[in-house]
This record gives sequence, C-alpha cells and structure tokens, in this order.
Amino acid sequence: MKKWFVSGVLLLLALIAQPTTAQGNGRSPLIIQPGDSWTALALRFQVAEAALHELNPHMNPLRPPAIGTEVVLPETAVEQSGVLLRPKGNLLATAVVHQVSPWSLAIRNNRSSPYRPTLYQPILVPAEDTVPRDLPPGFASLELSQGVGVPGQAVGFRGQLVEGGAVTAFLGDNEMDVFANGEFLVGLTGTGAFFGTQQPTLHIQVGDAPPWRQPWQFRDPTDWEYQQLTLTGAAAEIDQQSIAEERERLFAIWEQNSGPAQWQAPFQLPINSYLTISSTFGARRSYNGGPYRSYHEGVDFAAYGGTPVLAAATGTVVVAEFLYVRGGAVIIDHGLGIYSGYYHMSSIAVAPGDVVTTGQIVGEVGTTGLSTGNHLHWDLLVDAVWVDAQAWLDQGMDCWILAGLNQPCP
Ligand SMILES: [Zn+2]
Repeated sequence: MKKWFVSGVLLLLALIAQPTTAQGNGRSPLIIQPGDSWTALALRFQVAEAALHELNPHMNPLRPPAIGTEVVLPETAVEQSGVLLRPKGNLLATAVVHQVSPWSLAIRNNRSSPYRPTLYQPILVPAEDTVPRDLPPGFASLELSQGVGVPGQAVGFRGQLVEGGAVTAFLGDNEMDVFANGEFLVGLTGTGAFFGTQQPTLHIQVGDAPPWRQPWQFRDPTDWEYQQLTLTGAAAEIDQQSIAEERERLFAIWEQNSGPAQWQAPFQLPINSYLTISSTFGARRSYNGGPYRSYHEGVDFAAYGGTPVLAAATGTVVVAEFLYVRGGAVIIDHGLGIYSGYYHMSSIAVAPGDVVTTGQIVGEVGTTGLSTGNHLHWDLLVDAVWVDAQAWLDQGMDCWILAGLNQPCP
C-alpha cells in the first residue's frame, strides 16, 4: 500500500541522517560478529569487562552482545591479536599445538600453573593476524549468512571444526538442519515473515562440550506488501479440511532431511517469460476485511497459460500430481532439506523419482487448484520453513552453502 511505502522512505532518511560514530568518541563502534563475547572483547582490546558494560549500559551484561549490533569501545583501547581457546584439560596440549612455552602461556593468562585443568576457562594464545573470538568449543571458524538476519529469509552458519563430534544447533526454539563434509559444517533454517526485530539465540553444541550461545539481531525490512483479498461465492466455501490434509501431507515430505546437495550451480528463476510478479513472498494478507494474520508463502509470477515452468535447480522430483489447493504441482528435493515447489500448473511434464536438471521443463503455467488466474506460485522451503526464494537467488545462498561444505559452485 502506498502509505506504507511513504513511511518506509521517511524512516530510511531518518536512519541515514544519524551519525555513524558514537558521540564524543573518536573510535567507531564495533559491529558484533559471532564469538564477540564480553570476555573476548575485553581480552582483544585489553580493557576490563566492567569498562565495556559501563560504556554500553543499554546492553545486558549477562549475555553476549547480539551479532549485528554495535558496541562502543573505550577510546584508549588497543587491539591485540591471538587465538581464544577454552580447553577442557590443562595448558600442555594447547602449548604444544601452538608451539609456545606452557609456563609463558600460564603467566600470560594469569594462571598459577600450566598443569591445572582450565575447565573451559578462556585462554589467549599469541597469534598474529587473528582476532580473538569466543567460538563454540571445537570450532576453528564461524560465519553467518547475514550480519543482521532478515525475517522470512533462509539463514545459516558455516564453519570449520577442529575436533569431531555430533553438532546440534538451534535458532531460538527452532532446531536447525546441520550438514557436515569432513571438518566443514553448515547449519540452516528459515524464519517466518512475521518474525520481526527479535534477537533469537543461536545455540551450537559439539559433542558433550558446554553449549555456546549468542543472540542474533534480526531487522524487519518494513516494506512488506499488504493485500486485501475478498472471497465470495464458491471461493468463500473452501474445504478447510482438504486444505489441512494437503498441508499435513506436504510437511511430512518437507521435514525430511534429504541427503547431500544435488545442485552444483546457482539456482535460477523458474520462468523465463512472465508479465509481472503479482505477489511477493511475505505479503501480508487480510481476507474479507479481517486482520493481516497470514502471509504469502511464495512468489507469484503472472504469466500466459502454457508458459514453460522450469526447475530452479537440479534435484529429484518428489511430488508431481494435481492437488486441491496447489493444483498441478511439482515439488523438487534439492538435498540438504531444501525443496522448491511449482503450483497451479495446467500440465505436468515430470514424474516422482525423476532427476531434473536446472532449467528443465517441469510443466506449464495454468490456473488449477485454488487460483483466480494464470500464474505460477513458486515456493522454497529450508528446514521445513518457507523462505523468500527471490532473496535466496539475490544473496547467492546456494553457493554460500556449497562453499561452506567445501564443494565447488561455479
Ligand atoms: Zn501465490
């Protein structure tokens, strides 16, 4: 709606007008990355944790600062490099691996002896060009798909392990899909388009090591579309039970963690020729004047009937049939719990079990199922959550994931 667009522009101008450095402080605030705990920041900038809390009174001292937020540092802070470790046992193994004297390591870290177990207490090992970060025990590196998360998008982490062990990860209450290729690791999930500006906790655990937790800032893009839909006659008498049954059946498929990645190249748009994008992902929907309680779970391409519909990427067809809501439907399993769907088609060109390649025709645009005109509804699920497929393409999540698993993506 126009009104929303105008207020979005005003808000953007207000944000741009804000000064980018903290008032009266020559040092720019630090944007928090994974592993920037209060302890890591204090070690890295050689200041007391209490001084950091004093400078950042709006932040909770009892939990790590949220990834994507800004922390003010003392003007006098001097940065030092090193590797921050939390060994379970004593310092001897750490000293051997990093080729330093156990005693100098103990003295540097204010410990009375290198022989006493550290019990996961932080140890700073000198190392040039390395930022000390409090990573999950067992991780050598950790990176997020977005500095600040965006509701409705596929989000994840990737990293390298130094020690093996089963890895579990949660974003808030939602368990993430975790995939490994040797020491390379990727965790994936999505959030709903109503997620808003929360700070869900990213929670990662390797084997029986203590769980690692850090909140992650999400921002709302504020430019969601708002749509008022009026259903009359037959459309208003939709069979709710058939809708629920179809949904339940499809979620049983989407929740399966389907083997390794089948794609080896970027995903593509599922249609070459269309009139307009008639509805974006996340568009808020009000039916017959009611509240905006639901949102659009895919992207709609208005197109002429008969326009070829193309596989967005290589994968295995797991659904190819006519459904009550989705009409002529094809769902492709791309591996790693990622599924794309193509709906309301007038005809279907593939069968369950077929392996299709990027750009292969899977059917033709139609207006079957609960549909009011020729269009393709395209959806994408990650970890059984609908995500914005357009953003997935724009961000290059497909290759970001493959690179995280040390696999090529030309
Ligand atoms: Zn749609």
